[in-house]
Amino acid sequence: MPNTKLKKRINYIMVINFVVTVLLLAYAIHTMKVDYFEAIGRRAMTFSMVVADHLELKKEMVDHLVDMEFESLLKSPYNSEFETYVRQYMPASEIKYVYLLHRLKPDQIKYHVEVDEEDYYALKAGTALNTIYLIDAVIDDETRLADTDYQGYTDKDRYTYLHDEIESIYEGQQAQFKFYSDEWGTYITGFAPIYSKEGDYIGLLASDVYMDEYIQLIGRRVVTILLFGLVILTLIFSLLAGFRRINKIESLVADLKSRAYLDEMTGFYNRRTFVEQEEEYNKIARDTANPFAIIMMDIDHFKNINDTYGHPKGDEIIVAVAATIKSHLGEGDYPFRYGGDEFLILSVKHDQSYVLALAEAILESVRRITFDDVDEQITLSIGVSYEISDELFRVADLIHKADEMLYHAKEHGRNQIANTFEEQK
Ligand code: GH3
Ligand code: MG
Repeated sequence: MPNTKLKKRINYIMVINFVVTVLLLAYAIHTMKVDYFEAIGRRAMTFSMVVADHLELKKEMVDHLVDMEFESLLKSPYNSEFETYVRQYMPASEIKYVYLLHRLKPDQIKYHVEVDEEDYYALKAGTALNTIYLIDAVIDDETRLADTDYQGYTDKDRYTYLHDEIESIYEGQQAQFKFYSDEWGTYITGFAPIYSKEGDYIGLLASDVYMDEYIQLIGRRVVTILLFGLVILTLIFSLLAGFRRINKIESLVADLKSRAYLDEMTGFYNRRTFVEQEEEYNKIARDTANPFAIIMMDIDHFKNINDTYGHPKGDEIIVAVAATIKSHLGEGDYPFRYGGDEFLILSVKHDQSYVLALAEAILESVRRITFDDVDEQITLSIGVSYEISDELFRVADLIHKADEMLYHAKEHGRNQIANTFEEQK
């Protein structure tokens, strides 16, 4: 049997299993993140659209707001009213900032990026800050203070520059959402275009959702999924490990190709081989619960046959019985010539009904062996023992039981099977 090949295949299966599980986990995490961000982005965008719809801005009001310094903007009734209005809904929608981005005309530009501000704006010195936060709301005053290290906003903080991505949303006058990760944290901004009462495009209303809490939430979900994956992997690995162990017993027997292990007459393994390997079987079997069966078979009244037909005929009969036994063996069934007219099958893979059926099939087939010059029917007595191995398992005990059963079968008239199954049920 190609056992080394089988082992290789099991390793291969384990590696594939591991890789597939890791890929599935990565996919699950990725889709979860995308789904979350998509849902939140849409919510932020919808919020912006509703607020944009609510705002009534006249052209002259826009010009008036542009002229204000940040501090007076925040104190102005228009901005306060707006802030009070959006603050009602911000906590429910997890939105932290709402503001209106408005592009300045060239003559309205007030500030440029200074040399020491290049990193802050991610822009070259001299770039005009061409966009203004026309109106501005934050979820609560504390947040506004905390975000400026309790310094409050300066007038220049009212001005910004639209980088390419927002630029295209601005120009396209689109409702959109974007995911950001920068020095301000991780957040999603929902945009909606806003128009003056006269119908002119004023700019983009933007709502920021900060994702820190969500990222923690996703983190917790990821840990849960990982734990699940781990449990499943452990299960699969332990199952495979059990499979490998039983396979080791098989390989232990099946790899014995040398003639020294074999009985010349029958081609079965010899008794010495069994005795030598017994301790190995015990070790392997004790690791996990493996099914173990011993079928012990002895030719009935063989001495008589020898006496009547001669030793060479006796040999012929032994060979014929062995061939019959062999013809019934399946995977995991290993035959030994245990004594002169005694045979043993070690079966390491199967349940009781399989083992019993195997013994019955052998019993029946041997009864049908005929020789022209032999009048007597050749029969076997069979003793069967069966156990699921545990940490105290000993093959010797199983042999002992099979021997007892064989004796039992002989005592009860031979040509029959006795087994330990009833008492084990
Ligand atoms: P039982 O039904 O109780 O088993 O009776 P039995 O006569 O078969 O008794 P037992 O199993 O004790 O006898 C086995 C005999 O098998 C004894 C021995 O002469 C004979 N024998 C052992 N090895 C060989 C062999 O290689 N060739 C032949 N021809 N006979 C053998
Ligand atoms: Mg005998």
